[in-house]
Amino acid sequence: MNAVDDKTVVKDYFNATGFDRWRRIYGTEQVNKVQLDIRKGHQQTVDTVMDWLKADGNLRGLSVCDAGCGVGSLSIPLAQEGAMVYGSDISEKMVAEAYDRAKVFFGPNNNISFSAQDLESIAGKYHTVICLDVLIHYPQEDAARMISHLCSMAESRLILSFAPKTLALSVLKKIGELFPGPSKTTRAYQHRETDVVRILQDNGFSIQRQGMTSTRFYYSRLLEATRG
Ligand code: SAM
Repeated sequence: MNAVDDKTVVKDYFNATGFDRWRRIYGTEQVNKVQLDIRKGHQQTVDTVMDWLKADGNLRGLSVCDAGCGVGSLSIPLAQEGAMVYGSDISEKMVAEAYDRAKVFFGPNNNISFSAQDLESIAGKYHTVICLDVLIHYPQEDAARMISHLCSMAESRLILSFAPKTLALSVLKKIGELFPGPSKTTRAYQHRETDVVRILQDNGFSIQRQGMTSTRFYYSRLLEATRG
């Protein structure tokens, strides 16, 4: 399957069954055990990012691009801390849900601007660009172009999370593929950390902070890279 097909599949998925599934996982209503585990793991990733940014003490007024923002799980806490947030997602449904959630939190006038956009078509410059758990939808050969684009928009910092490609996880993924159930989603791509770091370095960034969330069903490596 080529990249264009992959993207169409991902977009269609997150506008249909994927929307329902992930809206619930990234919500508060009752979900099954696997989904609950993923919800908790993802929340840990969001919390780690928020802890890093709050520790820096300069979030108020900072421009932050949340690329592939989903239902706003990160955009909303960022805005709560006073950041100027630009959230976008390839799925219109996910962005609409993010918009509604933000409206419940802050009312119609708030410091988040949402748009339905493929992340390669996002333009502009932001102090910080954040892209959580989106690389899983990108095959290895497209990762460099995607990360380079994110780097080009980041004046100072890029925070990125991805499913790390390790032997143990590759085995688990293979086992999972043998038992496709009703919750089977789109293809999931893991990435080698050395590849991601090299791409960041090739774009003039160096690693500052690192995190890893692993629960039973959720694995996400988190890297903060800054320019220079
Ligand atoms: N970043 C959000 C978070 O951590 O809460 C959402 C993560 S969710 C697993 C992946 C999201 O990436 C989905 O909302 C999906 O629509 C979006 N996505 C996938 N490919 C994308 C692309 N090429 N451009 C923009 N968004 C994309």
